[in-house]
Amino acid sequence: MTFRDAQDQAVAKPTSPAPPAPPTATPTPLPNWPVDAADSGSGPAPGSTAEKGTSPLPKLRLEIHNLDHPGAAKFLSAINPTTVLSTAIKNVLCLLYQSPTNQHPDAPPTRSVTLILRDMAGVAHTRGIPLDDDHKEIHLSLNYINSIHPPSRLAHEITGVITHEAVHCLQWDGLKTCPGGLVEGVADWVRLRCDLGPPHWRRETDGGWDRGYQHTAYFLQYLEARFGEGTVRRVNEKLRVREYKGESFWPELLGQSAEQLYGDYVEKSKGGE
Ligand SMILES: [Zn+2]
Repeated sequence: MTFRDAQDQAVAKPTSPAPPAPPTATPTPLPNWPVDAADSGSGPAPGSTAEKGTSPLPKLRLEIHNLDHPGAAKFLSAINPTTVLSTAIKNVLCLLYQSPTNQHPDAPPTRSVTLILRDMAGVAHTRGIPLDDDHKEIHLSLNYINSIHPPSRLAHEITGVITHEAVHCLQWDGLKTCPGGLVEGVADWVRLRCDLGPPHWRRETDGGWDRGYQHTAYFLQYLEARFGEGTVRRVNEKLRVREYKGESFWPELLGQSAEQLYGDYVEKSKGGE
């Protein structure tokens, strides 16, 4: 039966013995399909997290822009798309806030994270949407996914990149004054802590402490070992409450300048420890 047939039928066949038919029109009934309470506009289902006004995580979404791209097939064959983003976000919240949810009062008010797979140059980047910076987009290159070799590395590498980008959705940046090297270092430190670093990463000590990415991540790993678990969490917390000033940031936090701390790190690394 077509929908139009159903409409005609509904009008033509009254359901009970006929009192005199009123001359007024009756609304066409909607098809009697089951309707999910969450979509019905009638409010959340009893007991749902929406009813309580809390959500353990930001709203998470996935967009794949080019399903005919070979990178899309590789992504879907290697990754569980329903869990990869939530797992990354939970790891970030655990390591930077010791919290299983983004309801922690010190976490940024990130309301949604959308993972967008598309044909683009580079590997990945994260940005807030123009109208509202609390909604984040992680752009991940299908070309990059297609280039990962051997295929056995796909899951590990993609999960590592997404974890790095998830940090950018939830870290603080000293009111936008934090050096980029430290921002990227914290992101790769989380990746390192999750044992998701790629095989080419090495503890290298040339360049400064703020060289960024894995170079700064290994330095932060050293600081965690020296000053105790939670040191990077304290770095992030300090970046929440005030602007970054290099001459005071590290002495206030750890009693020495970044250069002194990095010198100690280089010496220790040379010693093979
Ligand atoms: Zn980054």
